[in-house]
Order: sequence, then C-alpha cells, then structure tokens
Amino acid sequence: MKDKRFQKITSQALAAVAEWEMIHGETESKNTGKVLDAFRRQEINYQHFQLSSGYGLGDRGRDTLERLWADILGAEEALIRQQIVSGTHSIGLALFGCLLPGDHMVILGEPYDTLFKVIGRNKQEPGTLLEWGIDVTVHPLEEAETVADSFRERTKLLYIQRSKGYCLRNALLVDEIGEVIAGAKAVKPEIIAFVDNCYGEFTEEKEPIETGADLIAGSLIKNPGGAIALPAVTWRAAAIWWSRLSYRLTAPGIGRELGPSLVSNSYLYQGIFIAPHVVAEAMKGAVYAATAGPSAMMFCPARRNRGGHRTSHHLSDPQKLKTILPQRTAVFPGGFPCAFLEDWEMAGYEDRVIMASGGFVRGSSIELSVDGPMRPPYAAFLQGGTSFAYIRLVLDRIIGEMLGIE
Ligand SMILES: *Cc1c(COP(=O)(O)O)cnc(C)c1O
Repeated sequence: MKDKRFQKITSQALAAVAEWEMIHGETESKNTGKVLDAFRRQEINYQHFQLSSGYGLGDRGRDTLERLWADILGAEEALIRQQIVSGTHSIGLALFGCLLPGDHMVILGEPYDTLFKVIGRNKQEPGTLLEWGIDVTVHPLEEAETVADSFRERTKLLYIQRSKGYCLRNALLVDEIGEVIAGAKAVKPEIIAFVDNCYGEFTEEKEPIETGADLIAGSLIKNPGGAIALPAVTWRAAAIWWSRLSYRLTAPGIGRELGPSLVSNSYLYQGIFIAPHVVAEAMKGAVYAATAGPSAMMFCPARRNRGGHRTSHHLSDPQKLKTILPQRTAVFPGGFPCAFLEDWEMAGYEDRVIMASGGFVRGSSIELSVDGPMRPPYAAFLQGGTSFAYIRLVLDRIIGEMLGIE
C-alpha cells in the first residue's frame, strides 16, 4: 500500500512494537524457560495424555497437570479441571470455597462484570454470595494504599483484579499487587489475598503468588491455554482452605479425587507449553493497536497499554460499537459463524454485550477478539491473537478501510 498516511501510521506502530521488544523481549524466553523446567521436573510424558472415564479415579494425566501448573506459578496446589466451565466459575469456586456466612470480602476496584452476578444484588437472589450471608465492600482502586480502612473484624478475603476487565484502566503490575497485599497483611496478617488473574498469566516474568497472593484464579480459555485449551483454576493454599476448595469443587469427602479427563489432557499440556509465546505475540499486537488505533481514527482515543494485551478504545456511541465489531469479524479465520454480530444478553453479564471472535476454540479470547458492554462510554476491547503477523494483517486492513484506501 503506497498511501503516505497509511505508511506513517503503520511504521510508527511498528517502531512502538520494536521499542516494546527492547524492554520486554526477555519475558517470553524467561516464561518459556520456567514452563520447560516445570515440564522436566514433573517428568511429563505420553502417559499423561491419556483419557479417563467415569469417576476419573487415579487419573494421572490430570493430577500431574495440576502439579505442573502449581509448579509454574510457584503455588503449592492447583486445580485444572475440564469440569470448570469458565473463569467466572473458577473465581466463584474460590470465593464460595473460602468464605462462610457472616464473613466479609473487600474488592479493590470494580470487579469484572460477571462478578456482580456472583455477588448478587440482594439477599433474595438465589445462589449468590449475598444470599449465602457474605457481605461485600468495593474499595476504590485509586485509594489502594488505604484499602485496610475498609476492613472489618470479619473481613476474610481481599479481592484484587489484575487485568482491566471492562474498565478504562491499566492492568495492575504484579509488583503493585504485591504492595497492596503487603499493606493489607500489615494490618490483618490472616487475610486471604485473592487475585483474579484472568488475562494476567505470562504478561510479566512473575505471577501474583510470587508477590504475596495466597490464592489466584484464572482461565485456560485465556492466556495459559495458549489458544488450545479450556478453563481452570489455580491456587496456593493453606491446608484448611485447600480441603474446603476441593470439597467445593465436588463434594465433602470426595474433593479432588474425582473428575475424569474426557478430552485428552495433551491439549492442556500443549496449551501451557505454547502460552508464553502466544501471550507475547498478543502483547505485541496490543502495542501495535494502541499506537496505530488513535492516529487511524480506528477507535479513538486508545488507552495507554500496560501490563496486558487488552487495549480499550472509546467509541462513544452504541451505533459505532455495533457497526465496527461485525466489520472486524470478516477477517477472523473462523469467520462469521462464531461471531455474535448482535449485542445480546450473555449469561453472567448485567448489560448486553457484543462480542466478535472467530477463533478455533469457541469463545476463546486469547485468540484475536473484540468485545464490549453496551453502556457508556461504549468502549471496544481488543485482545489476544495467536501471532503478531496475523494481528498486524487484520489491523492493517482495518486501518486501510478507515483511511478509505480499500
Ligand atoms: C474474562 C474475565 C473473567 C471471567 O472469565 P469468563 O471465562 O469470561 O467467565 C473474570 N475476570 C477478568 C479480569 C476477565 O478478563
């Protein structure tokens, strides 16, 4: 394409990616090394890729996968289960596993949309934290250093979300999370520091457990699945809540012993193996989008991108959100059949959401995807992408369209 504006925008974006690589280029190889070391320590081999049936008793592939993932994260224990259906499920499991009636939880900043359904609006909503008698306070993120002011006698868990979710903020860095936890524990040493790690894994060289988190939950349909695997949850745990958590997963007395691998765990092992690379590619794509976006008037203005591969862009009116997303899906490999072209009431969300993702794993958002809630400021969130070359091709095509070249 010879257009001068196009050349200028894309070469600036490429320069930003090169600069980013100068600073963060080692993250991918360090994380790949971390993963490989854990594969060696856990002696992963073909036996671990076999299926199991029925109760799944003595499923070695599953148990070893959990040890592998705990090893990578510096955790004592992990649960990775094909029976955990989503990130929200893993977070809900962690919360209901730790909190008892009368307990209080402090959330730092607005949590991800689906958490409001887990908390519930009032005590009458069935199955929610509120109905279960757990009280929740949201402490403003801007006042993170005074989070302990929101603690009460029965405050048992501090909830911190690493990625931005549908908020126009940056992702929290692992060291920042560590500072908040240290401050909170200075006031209440026994508090459980919980981190929603969705979209966080492998974006930095450390994970939150290394800076003081007690329990983290994430999803293998995002970063650690490397665009190949399915959901899961992870944690490091003191013995007492470890049994609570595994009992919550199945039933008291059964815990983690049951749960078959109905699909080969090779997808999960391979997903974890490739994840540091896929995340690095997605991060480069996010830098490219954040730089090229505003100048191309693609989505405007982009937020400074830091600590994650999700970039957000104000569109300021719902119509734009509705027209832009479907256009974008034309360049996804899975094409239209997998993309939701209308905003809809997706399970778990308060507002209607519009989502476009044409990935190979349905709903996978470590594959290139764009989505947003139908509420002001009508921001679109772009994330994922399995290769930088692919993300760049898609974005260049959008920039070309915006400039009226194609
Ligand atoms: C995606 C996400 C979740 C929920 O995961 P689902 O698989 O969509 O249920 C929770 N928190 C954050 C920060 C997320 O990005």
